[in-house]
Amino acid sequence: MKRIVKIFLISFYILSCQKEDELTVFETNQPLIGNCKVLPQKGTEKNNKPDEDIFNLENMKTVTIPVYFHILYNSKIPQITSSDIRAQMDALNKAFSGKDHGGSPLINVIFNSVKTKDTKIRFVLEEAEAKHTNQKIWSFWNDFKKYPNPRKKSEGGLDPVNPWKNLNIWVIDGLIVVDENDVLPTSSINLGLSSNPIDAGAEWDGIAINSVTFPETNRGIRAFLNPISGKIKTMKDQKGKNLVHEVGHYLGLHHLIGKEEMPCGDDFVADTPPAEKLHKGTFKLPFKETCNGKSNYQMVVNYMDYSDESMLYIFTKGQTERMWRQSFWGKNAERKLMAATLPK
Ligand SMILES: [Zn+2]
Repeated sequence: MKRIVKIFLISFYILSCQKEDELTVFETNQPLIGNCKVLPQKGTEKNNKPDEDIFNLENMKTVTIPVYFHILYNSKIPQITSSDIRAQMDALNKAFSGKDHGGSPLINVIFNSVKTKDTKIRFVLEEAEAKHTNQKIWSFWNDFKKYPNPRKKSEGGLDPVNPWKNLNIWVIDGLIVVDENDVLPTSSINLGLSSNPIDAGAEWDGIAINSVTFPETNRGIRAFLNPISGKIKTMKDQKGKNLVHEVGHYLGLHHLIGKEEMPCGDDFVADTPPAEKLHKGTFKLPFKETCNGKSNYQMVVNYMDYSDESMLYIFTKGQTERMWRQSFWGKNAERKLMAATLPK
């Protein structure tokens, strides 16, 4: 079947009406991955422990996930262009195909044995739609209705396209989402949020991502208005790895500190080292931290930590298996309908 790719051609966003002294610039080494939330899951996760079947990635055909972008922008014209969308798709596929090389040679050696060579998960752009909105605060949680739901056209948002089969991503300027108690954050902007595989196909299934996290193309820095502080902020040197991180959640991964976000918690992946905390910023590699009395090299180069984007280039083999078991393969997989090419 012929696939229709529809992208809104968008011209450059020019920050012409803002004074220079209103800008706050995040330098390159500032953590760009952070303020990430995983939506509370409704169902009970079935497979914290792997089932008994032996998983062998070599026996799997590559799964291709159709992607729909729903862009909700506050500025006069969208900050996201068609080339930005393509660059983001390239960043996703590069990460999941294991071709995102980085890090120091020493770190490469340390984690070489556990780095996945290819997750066999790919993404294909189906459609990107854009809509102007004056709405600045959204409720991405299912049970709380104080603010509009960006997933609903009837509430000013954009409807998803069959979440059982497609990855729906809402791209929002200055993304602000109230917490589970319907309370606004005091100052922070969300960079991304994701649902869990257990809630596949549900009304709240999908990802919300801040438009400033998209990779730079040829336009220089990105800017957004923080509707809480009223300040303009800019970000630069984005590489699109915030969305890689969120898709990791979407397919079943937790942060390296574990599902409960407690020091040295369990992320249900055997080949990621325990982490005492989420690591923000850049790091001189390698370095160790102690968890449960044992010193471990910290995998701050893993997409599921909070390090600066320039450091991130690893999904492990264990994380790859977990994504497959959570999403596509075996009796506990929740996103089987999404796989355009089903595994053998
Ligand atoms: Zn996260």
